[in-house]
Amino acid sequence: MCYAIPGKVKEIGEKSVLVDYFGETRKAINEFYDVRIGDYVCAQGGFVIKKVSPSEAESTLSAWQELFFELKQIDLRLSRLDLKNKGIDKRLSSILDNALENKSLSLEDLLYLFNTESRSGIELIYKTANFLRQKYIKNSCCVHGIIEISNYCTQGCMYCGISTHNKALGRYRMTHKEIVDSALLAIEEFGFKAILLQSGEDAFYTADRLADIVAEIKAKAGVLICISFGEIGIDGLEKLYKAGARAILMRFETSNPKIYERLHPGRSLNTRLDHIKKAGQIGYLIMTGGLIGLPDQTREDIINDIYLAKELQAEMYSFGPFLPHPETPLASNSPPNEDDVLKALALTRLIDPEKSKILVTTAFETLCPDARRHGLLAGANSVMLNVTPIKYRKQYSIYPNRAYDKEEITTQIKETIALLQSLGRAPTDLGVN
Ligand code: SAH
Repeated sequence: MCYAIPGKVKEIGEKSVLVDYFGETRKAINEFYDVRIGDYVCAQGGFVIKKVSPSEAESTLSAWQELFFELKQIDLRLSRLDLKNKGIDKRLSSILDNALENKSLSLEDLLYLFNTESRSGIELIYKTANFLRQKYIKNSCCVHGIIEISNYCTQGCMYCGISTHNKALGRYRMTHKEIVDSALLAIEEFGFKAILLQSGEDAFYTADRLADIVAEIKAKAGVLICISFGEIGIDGLEKLYKAGARAILMRFETSNPKIYERLHPGRSLNTRLDHIKKAGQIGYLIMTGGLIGLPDQTREDIINDIYLAKELQAEMYSFGPFLPHPETPLASNSPPNEDDVLKALALTRLIDPEKSKILVTTAFETLCPDARRHGLLAGANSVMLNVTPIKYRKQYSIYPNRAYDKEEITTQIKETIALLQSLGRAPTDLGVN
């Protein structure tokens, strides 16, 4: 299965190329390849990650052509918005009208949406978010693969099951070779075009060691590499960028400094934010967000989290529920309910409708079995599959009973493709205009 349809280069700019996909064009930054007009390339997250031979490109494109337009029709049908809903209160309609006209919504408006309790009102919020997703981003859905390379962590984040609080957890660390091999398997065997490498803050994996891994994967395969190793320092960010990483997943967890400091002993929100900002300045694509349902967190806090992620120029928003882990100080807290998470995803689409990728997180899929479908119908357009070797997955226990802890990659891919096709989504990441 291919997660990036090859496109034909139409124009060549100074640093970027214009790529044509069945008549739609997208811009992609080209740093690594010598390309000419008429060449075929694959792009991810707005970066050219691979040149593709004409014969390979043409065979992929002919397999896709019919399906591509068929999926678009299904998506269009499912995202249609019926504005003649009866019984919807006036304020809700007028806020959603403004959202549809691309007027910015005030904090009060967003809170009003978050506080909506009627089923018909809630469903209309989700449908509006889905309509906006279809209008601006069409049916492309980003499918990334995550490899959790180590569960060692020096930090004491109060909610996290791989933190120092969890004394009962067996620790593992994949070797350099295991990581490279797993990435190559995901890329070459299973067609992933974007791989996220994640770990706890593991002192063994210094920036130099991580950079060697990234450089080796980049040398062997065309892929967008995303890193998520926590606070590795500005120098570390630079080294990994030089090695070829182009995206970073780093949540700020919560924009409320008091809650942040309570949950992250010895750490400050500002330091975390500085890392994210610096990564953006270096040139990384930013994937960020936070936890929904933290103790003492209000709905206003969550809206501020979305604003903050937007301010940080998130190319992908990653918001998921806090799920209490029994071996942490927050063991006795409760997770949020499904609608609170879905509302947060929908509001994210309303706040940043045009370009954003919004992830349905594995934590959300752990909270509710149908989260992926519901999330994708409420403004989201990205999913993450777990390509960590199965023998390690269970030990990456950031929260208990994680979804996909046991599923082979092939099973996950099959299920994902079936779901995406039923929703009219194409598992492609064409980047943004
Ligand atoms: N060391 C990296 C990765 C941390 S784990 C870093 O610092 O960014 C990845 C994410 O898992 C965290 O950002 C956090 O938001 C999420 N997470 C941790 N514990 C969780 C829990 N109990 N419930 C839901 N998400 C959790």
